[in-house]
Amino acid sequence: MFQALLITKPESGYRCELAQLDEAQLPASGDVTVRVDYSTINYKDGLAITGRSPVVRSFPMVPGIDFAGAVTHSDHPRWKAGDRVLLNGFGVGETHWGGLSQMARVKGDWLVALPETLSEREAMSLGTAGYTAMLCVQALQKHWAEAGVAAGSGEVLVTGAGGGVGSVAISLLAGLGHTVVASTGRPQEADYLRSLGAASVIDRAELSAPGKPLQKERWIGVVDSVGSHTLANACASTRYGGAVAACGLAQGMDLPASVAPFILRGITLYGIDSVMAPMARREAAWDALAKTIHREQLAAITKEISLADALAAGPEILAGQVRGRLVVNLKA
Ligand code: NDP
Repeated sequence: MFQALLITKPESGYRCELAQLDEAQLPASGDVTVRVDYSTINYKDGLAITGRSPVVRSFPMVPGIDFAGAVTHSDHPRWKAGDRVLLNGFGVGETHWGGLSQMARVKGDWLVALPETLSEREAMSLGTAGYTAMLCVQALQKHWAEAGVAAGSGEVLVTGAGGGVGSVAISLLAGLGHTVVASTGRPQEADYLRSLGAASVIDRAELSAPGKPLQKERWIGVVDSVGSHTLANACASTRYGGAVAACGLAQGMDLPASVAPFILRGITLYGIDSVMAPMARREAAWDALAKTIHREQLAAITKEISLADALAAGPEILAGQVRGRLVVNLKA
């Protein structure tokens, strides 16, 4: 028997609770069984735990879009018992039982080998949020390399700065030598954001209201986890030839923008998806995270919680109350 969060949808409504499960109940469609050591709470996990948005498509469901642990049994040619692995996305925690569980059975094709220099806990301190931040940073780096833009030649904006994607993005960009401007709705977290490497901190209210189609040119690049007017304003204030990596919708899914920054300033908007990203891109992102992440900053970003605590963490992350990353310790 093992512990997991279990989502059911009885006639009385949507429920997510702590449950005792048997290994025989794990999905038959998987070919690798994993002992999960750590999982995390991402924004999407908050949606699944609370039922606020229909991310869970079949019931009963174990939530948790990511995990790290060790293979206990494998019918997949790539994996054997004892291999250290991690997983992000592929519908795990949405359409296939996920990582907020001490055991998981998944498709071997979805697994990534845990980089040797990362512990299971560090991997999940980063989690899907950190991996997505790296996908954003890599898109910007490729763009800057092609455009001949050097680190330190201008400011880079990170929105949703106090959240998981934002916190890791600041640390990564500052580590690469960029001048990072952090946009947050939590001015009380300014010292925390500076400790991650932000050169300055702005109030997110400067970006969240409807703005002009073209604004003063400021950013050589942007990592945006917020969407809506914030993303539109970020595009409108990106410098000629600069780039914006859009990955989130914390403010909204809409994009009330104009084509002006694209056709008059030649800016580029990169869409970042972590869920179905090809395996080579995932491995490159995790490899880069293992090589470049600042361990002390990662520790400062992380708060460890139990599986039982994860129930309360769902509404907290949706309310924008979580600072950095929540890592869930599943070790018995
Ligand atoms: P978090 O909740 O940790 O961070 C989101 C941050 O956005 C908050 O901490 C807050 O930062 C800011 N925010 C919240 N509400 C608002 C609002 N109404 N207006 C403006 N800013 C707001 O979530 P994650 O970092 O885990 O994820 C961020 C976003 O990225 C989510 O939308 C998530 O769904 C998406 N995502 C997408 C992925 C992909 O594959 N494309 C993968 C992972 C995440 P502050 O208080 O500092 O302002």
